[in-house]
Amino acid sequence: MTVLDVRAVTKVYGQGAATVHALRGVSLTVERGEYVAIMGSSGSGKSTLMNILGCLDIPTTGQYLLDGVDVSRLNDRQLALVRNRRIGFVFQSFNLIPRTTAVANVELPLAYAGIKAAGRRRRARGALDLVGLAQRGDHEPNQLSGGQQQRVAVARALVTEPALVLADEPTGNLDSRSTEDILGIFDDLHAAGRTILLITHEDDVAARASRLIRLVDGQIVTDVRQQRVPA
Ligand code: ADP
Ligand code: MG
Repeated sequence: MTVLDVRAVTKVYGQGAATVHALRGVSLTVERGEYVAIMGSSGSGKSTLMNILGCLDIPTTGQYLLDGVDVSRLNDRQLALVRNRRIGFVFQSFNLIPRTTAVANVELPLAYAGIKAAGRRRRARGALDLVGLAQRGDHEPNQLSGGQQQRVAVARALVTEPALVLADEPTGNLDSRSTEDILGIFDDLHAAGRTILLITHEDDVAARASRLIRLVDGQIVTDVRQQRVPA
């Protein structure tokens, strides 16, 4: 079953002398359960591609189908719904809400989805348990290490049980121990059949995925299946 179907997508920012061709005709399909790493030097278009895949932005030209639905035909409200229901995001900078407990941070996507308070709390605690932070639910972000904050962010991404997990350099700000924690969680998600797209600069992080795509100047130059390197 095809989850992502990207057809000749381009993205152009700005105009005139300031025009940037961030994506120059990207096509790819991703099947359910794949674990894909996307590599490429800074400025090669990785984040632009992820923003489009995550329905945070739309292509300039080309088509993008998520679970068979052409998202370019959806309005803003429908796009927000798709993001909330189908996609879990993890960013390099954690993006947790300050002065707000871990469990409240993890609950947020459920609040947007209209889930009642008791159910929210129970599911958020469950997601924190999944990332090994059951005991830290009442801590605020500044009381947690970087690695723990990123695990909270992963719990927040997973709490809605999304079909697709998108992670943009999730280990970029982490030490090797915390990187291993996050990659171990992704290994478990992959084993459980989730679809994962991971952007990274690091070869040993990319080696954990089952497929490797390299971007150069807004184009895919390599797209290969690879034997996963276990932890
Ligand atoms: P990467 O994530 O691989 O570093 P990006 O997708 O962030 O690359 O950027 C690709 C190119 O598009 C870069 O040249 C960048 O400067 C440009 N770019 C990204 N976002 C914008 C924006 N909002 N406005 C103008 N240019 C942008
Ligand atoms: Mg980027």
